[in-house]
Amino acid sequence: SYPIDVEAIRADFPILDRKVGGDVERPGEGPGDDTPLYYLDNAATSHTPDQVVDTISEYYRGYNANVHRGIHQLSQEASVAYENAHDTVADFIGASGREEVVFTKNTTESENLVAYAWGLNELGPGDNVVMTEMEHHASLVTWQQIAKKTGAEVRYIRVDDDGYLDRDHAADLIDDSTQMVSVVHVSNTLGTVNPVADLADLAHDHGAYIFVDGAQSAPTQPVDVTAIDADFFAFSGHKMCGPTGIGALYGKEHVLEEMEPYLYGGDMIRRVTYEDSTWEDLPWKFEAGTPSIAQGIAFAAAVDYLEDIGMANVQAHEELLAEYAYDQLSAFDDVTIYGPPGDDRGGLVAFNVEGVHAHDLSSIVNDHGVAIRAGDHCTQPLHDKLGVAASARASFYIYNTRDEIDALIEAVDDARELFA
Ligand code: PMP
Repeated sequence: SYPIDVEAIRADFPILDRKVGGDVERPGEGPGDDTPLYYLDNAATSHTPDQVVDTISEYYRGYNANVHRGIHQLSQEASVAYENAHDTVADFIGASGREEVVFTKNTTESENLVAYAWGLNELGPGDNVVMTEMEHHASLVTWQQIAKKTGAEVRYIRVDDDGYLDRDHAADLIDDSTQMVSVVHVSNTLGTVNPVADLADLAHDHGAYIFVDGAQSAPTQPVDVTAIDADFFAFSGHKMCGPTGIGALYGKEHVLEEMEPYLYGGDMIRRVTYEDSTWEDLPWKFEAGTPSIAQGIAFAAAVDYLEDIGMANVQAHEELLAEYAYDQLSAFDDVTIYGPPGDDRGGLVAFNVEGVHAHDLSSIVNDHGVAIRAGDHCTQPLHDKLGVAASARASFYIYNTRDEIDALIEAVDDARELFA
C-alpha cells in the first residue's frame, strides 16, 4: 500500500485519464488513440488538480481586478486573496510571514532577482561565489554571468562518483572571500538530497549568504527555511500542483530589507518625485508592476492541496517510488543510473541504456504512453562530467503508482530489444 490515497488523488487530476498516441500537431483536441498516459515527467512540471484549476476559474469569473491600489470591492477582494497567498506560501516553508516571500515568475527569476539586486552591487574582484557541480543552469549560468560582470570568481563543489557532494572540498572552497554559496537542495538530475543546513553553517562561518534552489525539494518534502537557516530559498509553483508563471523567493527579512529593488515601476514604490523615489514595504518592493494575480492565488491553493495530503506523506511516497524504479532499472545490466542508491534519493531517476540514445529511448517509451524526459535536464556541465551528452529521466509525484513504473520498465525493455 501507499503512504497516501493515490486513487483519491488521481480523481482530482482528469488529465491522467486521457489517452495518447494521437496527433501531436493538433494538441488539446482530446484523447488520441487508445494508449493510457503514464506521466513520469514531474520534475519538469507537475499536473494541476481540479481544486487549483477551480481557484483560477473562480478568480476570473468572480473577482478579477488589479491588486493593491483599488478602493472598489473587486480590487479589495483580489488584493486580500493575493496578499494572503503570500502568508500561505510563507507558512508552507516555515518563513515568518509575507514580508519574507516575494512572488516571482519561477525559480529562475528568483535566482536572477538575487543575482542582479544583490550580486551585481555586492560582488567584486577578490570575492567568490561557491556552487556545486550539480547546479541547474538556473543558478549556474546566472551566478557565472554575474561573476563575469563583477570580476568575482566562481567555484564548484565536487560531486563524487556516487553522486554526493564532497564535503571536504566544500570546506576547502568556502573561505573568507566567499560572498555567496548557491546550492541545489535536491538535484534534478542525480536525485541527491544535499546537506543544505550544514552548508548554511559553513557559509555563515565565513560571513557568506546561502541561496538554496528548492525547485525539486519544496514540491516533494517538508521544508523549513528557518531550520536550514537559508538566507534565500527559491521554488516554482508549476512543479507542485500550481500553475505556470508563479514562483517564490524567500529571503530573510533583514537581508531583503538591505537589498536594492530588482525591477522598478508601479506597485513597488512609496513616494515618487521627478528627482527620486522611495520603496514600498516588503515584499512589494520586489514585485514591480501588475503581478500574476490569479497564479499567485492558485499557488496558495496548490499549497493547501499538498498540505491536506501532508508533505511528510508526499516525501514517503516519492521515496517509495524512486526506490522501486531504481531497483527495477538496476535489474538491467546495460542500464546506468546516475546518482545515489535507490534508498537515498529524491523522487527521480536519470539513466541511460547502453547503445541507445536517450532521445531514441524516450521516443520509444512515448510510443508506450510513458512520458519521461530526455536531454541534459539543464545540467550540461554535470552531463559533461558524467561523460554523456544526455540521459533519460523518470520523475514521480503524488499520483504515480508502481504500475506506471512497471509500464516504464516494459517500455525500456522494448527499447533494449529494438536496439540489441
Ligand atoms: N532548479 C532546479 C533544480 C530545477 O529542477 C528547475 C526546473 N527544471 C529549476 C531550477 C528551474 O525552474 P523554473 O524553470 O521553474 O524556473
